[in-house]
Amino acid sequence: MQRAHVWATLLLVQLFAAPPTAAVAATAGEVDVIVSRPDPTQAQTPAHKRLSVHGFFNLVKRTAASLTGYALPLTKCEKWSLPRDKLDAVKRAAARRGLLVTELGPGWDHVFQPTPPDLNIGGKQRSMIDLASTSRATTGVKIMSGPAPSMLEYALTKDAKAPAGGEAPKLTVALNDQTVLTIARSSVAIKPNLCIWRGEVEQTGGLVTLMWWPNGQMAGTVQDRGKIFSIRHMGGQFYAVVEMSAERMPQEHASLPAQLRGGDPNLRDDPLVQQGDASLLHRLVTAARPSLPAAAAPKPASPPAKVAATSKASPAGKDVVIDVIVAYTKKAAGNYGDVKRELVDLAIEEANHSFRMSNIDSIKLRLVHAYQTDYVEAGEHFQHLWRFADRGDGYMDEIHGLRDKYRADVAVLIVDDAAGCGLSTRVYADAEEAFAVVHHECAAASYSLAHEIGHIIGARHELALDKNMTPFPYGHGFVNGSKWRDIMSYKVSCGGCPRLPVWSSPNVLVKGEAAGTAELDNARVILEQGARVAAFR
Ligand SMILES: [Zn+2]
Repeated sequence: MQRAHVWATLLLVQLFAAPPTAAVAATAGEVDVIVSRPDPTQAQTPAHKRLSVHGFFNLVKRTAASLTGYALPLTKCEKWSLPRDKLDAVKRAAARRGLLVTELGPGWDHVFQPTPPDLNIGGKQRSMIDLASTSRATTGVKIMSGPAPSMLEYALTKDAKAPAGGEAPKLTVALNDQTVLTIARSSVAIKPNLCIWRGEVEQTGGLVTLMWWPNGQMAGTVQDRGKIFSIRHMGGQFYAVVEMSAERMPQEHASLPAQLRGGDPNLRDDPLVQQGDASLLHRLVTAARPSLPAAAAPKPASPPAKVAATSKASPAGKDVVIDVIVAYTKKAAGNYGDVKRELVDLAIEEANHSFRMSNIDSIKLRLVHAYQTDYVEAGEHFQHLWRFADRGDGYMDEIHGLRDKYRADVAVLIVDDAAGCGLSTRVYADAEEAFAVVHHECAAASYSLAHEIGHIIGARHELALDKNMTPFPYGHGFVNGSKWRDIMSYKVSCGGCPRLPVWSSPNVLVKGEAAGTAELDNARVILEQGARVAAFR
């Protein structure tokens, strides 16, 4: 071992024996590289010759003072800058140590590359593409190739600690043959096992969220000019980029089926579409179960907590954490390589981002459990919902025990049913009815998981759609003309304008414009009522 060490040192002394003045003058001739250790099970290097990436750095540094570098902690790699004329020798020395030196070429900031047209894909991948292609909202599916994990970590986290005010680092993201976007980073959060990157499309201001795990898996959403791109991992370096038309996405809540509207005057206004409130339909579901004991009749809305009970909101500085359990069907899961990460984690993260954007970041959602249920989507959204929420009806009855076990305040069922984006039991639900169903395409991409939980907490749609003033007269969504709308508002109220991850509030500014008024303040509802829901379990 000692002999190998000495050999490498001698080699490096030779390589870096240039006069110091020449080394300084050669700064322009520097090259940036990523130094990584390939999968150890495949390394041919004998164990006694291996060196850690940082050990190798220290070795090279001894003979090359101009060497600089820093760690990429998630992939356990390092990014170095070294004189270009030493690159080949360092590559050879690294190879003998079981390490890989990869040059950061001009395309280091390119996140996706096209794949060969004759790419062979497996059955699971084929099925993902087929499922995505059959969706009404889908306008294209393209298989793209992603970069190596260490390259991606470098691209996503470059200058993450640089002081604000400098030019934002940019990525070039190819989503298909025609769409190549330049996206400027607005934030990056580096967690122990996850990186969350957010940015805006340079020309259009479209919002981008990328989530990335150190094994190379990536997921996310890119919004651009009426299109929503959903990035789904297909295994290895391959991704399905599913292009959806925002216009063709389902409306937030499916309409009541025509045959159910007839003869019941109470349903004429369609409580599903206008209020997102499924409580009136509960008896339709229970009435269809003659062989089972009659479920409880629909309960009247619980009396609201006092509007003035601001003091019941979290004490200053203390987080209110709403624990969420998510069940997903096999069909919904089939649209993703890993539905828990690529969809559920993403949707929860988007909801938390919306709270931060709305100055109510003391409210947080936390995923406490996600699992596949054996329910097969059949019927309407309100039927999925009440089958999920009702006890002892023979559908998804495991949810109640799991919800108690994981102490989940709210339960969400993810389906593949594009009749609507989602539905919750009622506005201002109590603990027994804190259930919602969400269509997978909308859960993260149009913030529908957040929307449905918003209803459960007590938030309503914009006034144009829902004039109901209970339980909170100020609890309505906000639409800014035809520019944008908030999480609780419908696209019909603004001619199909984009939905932003904000809650209505006079205190929230979007590019200088307020996202609400004192009378339209769902952020206040979330802030004041979050603790009520967080105490359900
Ligand atoms: Zn709604």
